[in-house]
Formats: sequence, structure tokens, C-alpha cells
Amino acid sequence: MDVNKLMITLEQKHPGELEYLQAVKEVLLSIKDVYNMHPEFEKVKLIERLVEPERIITFRVPWTDDRGDVHVNLGYRVQFNSAIGPYKGGLRFHSSVNLSILKFLAFEQTFKNALTTLPMGGGKGGSDFSIRGRSSNEIMRFCQSFMEELFHYIGPDEDVPAGDIGVGTREIGFLFGTYKKLSHKWNGVLTGKGIEWGGSEIRTKATGYGALYFINQMLQTKDVDIAGKTVALSGFGNVAWGAAKKASELGAKVITISGPDGYIYDPDGISGEKIDYMLELRASGDDICQPYAEKFNATFVRGEKPWTKKADIYLTCATQNELNENDAQMILKNQPICVAEVSNMGCTEKATELFINEKILFAPGKAVNAGGVATSGLEMSQNSMRLHWSENDVDEHLHRIIHSIHEQCVKYGRTSDGYVNYVKGANIAGFMKVANAMMAQGIV
Ligand code: GLU
Repeated sequence: MDVNKLMITLEQKHPGELEYLQAVKEVLLSIKDVYNMHPEFEKVKLIERLVEPERIITFRVPWTDDRGDVHVNLGYRVQFNSAIGPYKGGLRFHSSVNLSILKFLAFEQTFKNALTTLPMGGGKGGSDFSIRGRSSNEIMRFCQSFMEELFHYIGPDEDVPAGDIGVGTREIGFLFGTYKKLSHKWNGVLTGKGIEWGGSEIRTKATGYGALYFINQMLQTKDVDIAGKTVALSGFGNVAWGAAKKASELGAKVITISGPDGYIYDPDGISGEKIDYMLELRASGDDICQPYAEKFNATFVRGEKPWTKKADIYLTCATQNELNENDAQMILKNQPICVAEVSNMGCTEKATELFINEKILFAPGKAVNAGGVATSGLEMSQNSMRLHWSENDVDEHLHRIIHSIHEQCVKYGRTSDGYVNYVKGANIAGFMKVANAMMAQGIV
């Protein structure tokens, strides 16, 4: 495999799709040595097939606001790879959404889902619609219009969307209601449903909880106890909330959260009711974190990211590329114990490179945040079995899955000097599973 040649071809085919190209390059660099040990892959152009989505669906989403004005948004579903199971991955509703972002997310999802041990392919979708400042009725009408088109392409054995940025239980409810009405079927076509209507225990917390289970395992490889450590994290949405909750439950002290407006520094620690307040901030739909500072007498730093603060553990919990080279240099000066992406591709290529070159404990989103989609997979199992598992049962499964993901990373990522390159480990482990399945299924 010639990574440069492959990247040049892809750049020509998909000019300007920066996030997608970034995600592909990272995986190619990680797997090239392993790939080259398998001439049978090269013979059937496995990698050329794997980097292209199987199918992309784009559609218009017209809807009417509360004043009667009509809006037209773009809707997408990227069905990336179905070698090991039905397409699975979230829907993102955010003004920044474009095809490059959804292709990168769907590509990442393919490997992430492979790591979970569950039979799920990779997909992602969404819209450039923003829920910011919209009433619940407007959001409902948007979701109904979005699903009127999407429902043709999804199903419990075909493609199972879920939430992502801007899509939570409320939106999944509106989408599910419309799917049910159009298809005349009640089935597990979406995950992240409410507990009373087919949802799984733990799902809302699973991404953050799973991330902390994973980080705990990373720390254990160095005999470090997470209790008493300080954590600087970004974001204040569902993922940041789950991560903060579990971190403080494990005895760590979370000292920052952030939003598009700036970050909060709370040296007393963000725990208890302060964590629950994050949910209120999110529910307000204003997409700002500043009110936290007024309510709890903490510091608000406008327009900055939390990475300047000294902490033991740094977690990206907001969005892609939110931690760049400069941020990484600043963080490294503070000699952190661990840096982990909880958001998908939270670090830029250069930042990732810096962390790995310094040989610090660093892990990529597709391993760290896989607990979210894994619990979605458990929701699918429960829906198919027509059963509802207890919180304990789901948490046990989640622990087992995270343990297995960590083991796979160590198995494929350990270098000759003993350092574990989790980026390489996660990419190779995910790739090998998908590649073997694609080999078995012929050139399709
Ligand atoms: N959006 C989440 C992710 O990035 C969850 C996807 C799902 O549950 O299908 O993995």
C-alpha cells in the first residue's frame, strides 16, 4: 500500500473533504504494515473499496417554523460499510454538518463498531439543521420531514440510526413516531429511545461512562489510581455530562467544562448538582456554558478552550479537531498522565502525533467512546429479543465490551519498547475484523 498515492487519488476524487481525508489518512498510516503483509488484500483492491462509502443518500428537508415561514435544510445518510452488520451510527443535527464531516464520522464508526465485538456496520447521517433557538414544535416538524425521506432507507436489519450532536431522546422520539406511522411497524429501527418505549438502561450515560471505564484501564497499565486526579474536559452536552458523572463517581475531580462561548473553571470540582445543571444548560437550547459561572460562582473565560488549565487528565468531549497542535504543546508542558478523545477525532493530526511522539497515555475516540454505540448494540439485542435488561445487566455487558476493546488496542498497539500506541492498536484491530469479513464476502 502506498499511502501517499492513495491519498492523492482520494484528494482528487473528493477535493475539500478535509475531515474525511484526515480520518482516512490516520487509518491508512496505522494499518499499512499489516496490510502489506496480506497480498490477498491488495489483489482485490480491499483498501480502495474500504475507503469509499457503500452508498450516500442526500435529500432535502423542508419544514415550516412557528411563524409559518418555510425552511429547506439538507439531509444525509452515509451508509459506509455493512461487512459485519447493518449500518449503525448516529444522526448529527448541527449547522456545521456537511458531507465531509458525515463521511469521516461514518468511516470512523465502521472501525469503532468493529471494536465493540457486536455485529454492527458503520454509518452516519444528519442535517445542517440547528436546534439552537428552535421550539419543540419546530424540532418535531423538522424531524418528521427528515424521517419522511429517511424511512425508505433504514430498518432493524438494514440501517439503525441513533443520536449524536443535536439529537437526543426527544429527537429520537419524534423520528421514531414518524417511522412507525409511515411503516406501520414497531421495531428497533432507532436506538437511544426512551426507557418506556424500547430504550436501554444506561444508553444516555454510556458514552461518558464507557470512556471512563476505558481511561481507568489505561491508567491501570501504569498502576495509577484515578481517585484524586484532576480532569479538564471540554463540552457540556450528553457526552461531557456522562464523563463528568463517572469521573467524579470514581473519585476524580472535574475542573472544567466548555461551550462555544468559552470555558468554565471550577477549582472546587464539578460534581453532584453541578453535573446535573449541565443537563439544564443543554435543555435550554442556548448552547452556552456561561450561566454555570454565575450560578456556582466559578470562573468563565470567554472565547478560550480549557486546555490551558493544569490537570492530570484531559478529555475532549465536544467535537472533532477541538484540540490542536498548540493546545497539545501547552498540555504537554503540564506533564499530563493521560489524554483521551471522547469526542470523535477530537484532536488534529498534528496534536495526535505530538502526544504519541511523547509516548504519553493517549487514546483515540473510536476506542474511548465506543461504549455509546456498544450500548446501542445492546438496545438492538433487547429489541429483537423483546426484553428489557436491568441496569446491572447492561453495565456488566458494557464493562466486558470496554475491557475487550482495551485488550484489542494493547494487542495490536504495543510497540517494541513496551509503549502502547492506542491509535494504531484500535485502527488495526478494527480494520482486521472488517477486512476479513469483506474478504469472505467477495468483491461486492
Ligand atoms: N453517535 C454515537 C457515536 O459516535 C453513537 C452512535 C450509535 O449509538 O449508533 O458513536
